[in-house]
Amino acid sequence: MALIITSPLRGWAAPLDSVPDPVFAQRMMGDGVAIQPLADTVCAPFDGEVVTLHEAGHAVSLRSDEGAEVLIHIGLDTVGLKGRGFTPLVAPGATVARGDPLIRFDMDAVALGATSLITPVIVTNAEAFTITRRTMGRAIGAHEELMALAPARTQPRRWSDDGTVIEERVTLILPHGIHARPAARLGECARQFEAEIHLLHGDKRGDARSTVGLLALGTRLGDELVVQARGSDAEAALAAIVALLGSDMGEGAPAHAPAIAVPAAPVLQPGQIGGVIASPGLAMGPAVRLRQTAIAVEREGKGVDAERTALDAARTEVRVRIGARADAAGGSVAAVMRAHLALLDDPELAAGAETRIAAGNSAGYAWRGAVHDQIAALKATGNAHLIERTDDLVDIERQVLGVLTGIPAEADAIAAGAILVADDLLPSQLVSIAASKPAGICLVRGGPTSHVAILCAGMGLPALVAMGDAIEAIEDGTALLLDAEAGHVTPDPSQADADAFAARLAKREARRDAARAAAGNACQTADGVRIELFANLGTVEDAKAAAAQGAEGSGLVRSEFLFLDREDAPSEDEQHAAYQGIADALPGKPVIVRLLDVGGDKPAAYIPFDAEENPALGLRGIRVGLAHRDLLETQIRAILRVQPVGQCRIMLPMVASVSEIRAVREVVERLRGEMGIETPIEVGVMVETPAAAITADLLAAEADFLSIGTNDLTQYVLAMDRGNPAVASGVDAMHPAVLRMIAETCRRATAKGRWVGVCGGLASDPAAVPILIGLGATELSTVPGFVPEAKAIVRSVTLADARDHAERALHCSSAAEVRALARAFEEKNA
Ligand code: PEP
Ligand code: MG
Repeated sequence: MALIITSPLRGWAAPLDSVPDPVFAQRMMGDGVAIQPLADTVCAPFDGEVVTLHEAGHAVSLRSDEGAEVLIHIGLDTVGLKGRGFTPLVAPGATVARGDPLIRFDMDAVALGATSLITPVIVTNAEAFTITRRTMGRAIGAHEELMALAPARTQPRRWSDDGTVIEERVTLILPHGIHARPAARLGECARQFEAEIHLLHGDKRGDARSTVGLLALGTRLGDELVVQARGSDAEAALAAIVALLGSDMGEGAPAHAPAIAVPAAPVLQPGQIGGVIASPGLAMGPAVRLRQTAIAVEREGKGVDAERTALDAARTEVRVRIGARADAAGGSVAAVMRAHLALLDDPELAAGAETRIAAGNSAGYAWRGAVHDQIAALKATGNAHLIERTDDLVDIERQVLGVLTGIPAEADAIAAGAILVADDLLPSQLVSIAASKPAGICLVRGGPTSHVAILCAGMGLPALVAMGDAIEAIEDGTALLLDAEAGHVTPDPSQADADAFAARLAKREARRDAARAAAGNACQTADGVRIELFANLGTVEDAKAAAAQGAEGSGLVRSEFLFLDREDAPSEDEQHAAYQGIADALPGKPVIVRLLDVGGDKPAAYIPFDAEENPALGLRGIRVGLAHRDLLETQIRAILRVQPVGQCRIMLPMVASVSEIRAVREVVERLRGEMGIETPIEVGVMVETPAAAITADLLAAEADFLSIGTNDLTQYVLAMDRGNPAVASGVDAMHPAVLRMIAETCRRATAKGRWVGVCGGLASDPAAVPILIGLGATELSTVPGFVPEAKAIVRSVTLADARDHAERALHCSSAAEVRALARAFEEKNA
């Protein structure tokens, strides 16, 4: 009867070959399965006795009542921890029942001190037991079957009566039987001997040197075979073939993951309304329409002084309100609020209003006129990204007019759990509505890079924008299923659809909760490959939030937050204080500061930009720094001053040529010399242009690392403006063309020994994480709130599965097909 060994831990069951330690991978101690732990308590895998418990507490061996001996070794190189982080719960000699806790360990402490947390579970008396079944390549719960053992035969070898043929029985442990690859390896092994060797399966007989003969045996996992050898070296030949059949032959992790059918690209079902994903997620709830009150203003003023005083007072009141919001919030809300404060004090707006008041107009009329002048100026640029910023102007227009007229400018509170449906939404309205805890947002208009979109993403609020007039017809109270992963909303769903959606949502939430609970744990794939999980930051508040979410560093500090929305460039001291603050919030962790990335969609008032016909193809990114050396040098000096030296690395935006990294490296080295800094400073490049992707090998020869900015890379690969709502639905970084660029970058750079990360928005897309790892990225930098989930996704996949999945994605014909593939992968892994 089979002896069942249950998993001593919850985690991911992986083949021993994936353990990065030859002692286990080469089965020097015996055969078994490895577990990448997702829990901290090792339990007894059967009823039996504790034989040894190492004094360092990291390994325990047990003997089952049937005599099978099993060693459980927690992590690699953990003996060196000398017991730190391990709490033995039993003593040698103890009798245990299956599931009894044996050792508890501190996952954080052990992960930090060990090479890997991967935990081999080894059958050490293989001469007495054969593993007939094993669980590998999937998540496993504690107490689920990990292996099945059968007692080895007492007289395994038998000579034929005439003494010419020796034979031995084996139980096949290959997960897919003897298919082409194992057959080839058996043939290779057999050819090293003189002896004739045959495998017998039932009444079929195949020559071990013949691949076809072996395939024709039609074997499957668990089949009983007889291996026969005849000839001068028959004993040695038999032993070699039996030993090979007793191993996984590298089949533990199937080279090709079980086929995942690529579902057809999602098409809208009747009644569904499509939209552009501004903030991913799922939500269900009743529709609530936003009621906007129009604010009318008198034209005639009541005297210049009175109107001036009224406007000043209204602006002061709004300033205090926005300032309080900025202080109370953090991250993106605070950043948007600060941008609004800057607009409120914009001198052009003040001058425009003053002129109108001086001409006898009311404060409200003057303010509205001044704001509309600015909106007209932005619209005249034709730059879609700037046009999206007009929402911010309308926002402060309404807030000031609200104070002047006494008409509430902010949106009314809505019922918690409702889905807000609106023509458009202003940032301040979103912030006030967010307090009522809506479940999601659907907008007729709006763009995916608007402040509302950024705020929704920061709040984790699912949102679809640019949905068009179709959602105008949705009435208050209509039940909605908002799928901001596939990009559509279903009004009035059937009960079955609603139930299925609710189940999906509940699963998602449970996973998110579990991810949050494990946010502080180290990040590696299920088979122990380390993936660094960093966060993208703009401010010290972001850095604090990121640290709290388990970020292991910052892969992108968008330093332009210091440079935008102001009249002059920040001084070296001001910059240094900001970078130091961020570094201090992430003690001991790498902080990658991106050099000033302005130009294009991010103009800075004090840098003279000539009018450009194609700003996205003009003076932007590192080109600006190289054209304004004073700005570049000031920034690099501020970064080099951060203590401890070396914590901050430097990254160049929008690189197109090797000469750019050479030029910046030369500045860094010169300043380092001038400042007497001996520690080398890492300098890396962003891959945001097709040029950088296709020359990643050349850049890798000069740069310490490469980080892919998928936002810009997507717009340049697809020739679609990332800020233009008209093409927004096509700007999807999951497009196979973009994925192929990422693959090419990883291939070329890693061949030169440089790591590649991803700091663009794609890294924050749960569907993309396995693909990016599979393509070769070893660092992901995401929005801070996504760090725990990204870590959980990384932990749930093996590198082999991720590679296979990524390879399939590269061969899809559209982004929609890649997304369908990703959904199937996620469901299979769930
Ligand atoms: C990118 O382009 O992907 C990126 C990270 O830079 P930004 O979005 O700031 O342009
Ligand atoms: Mg960019």
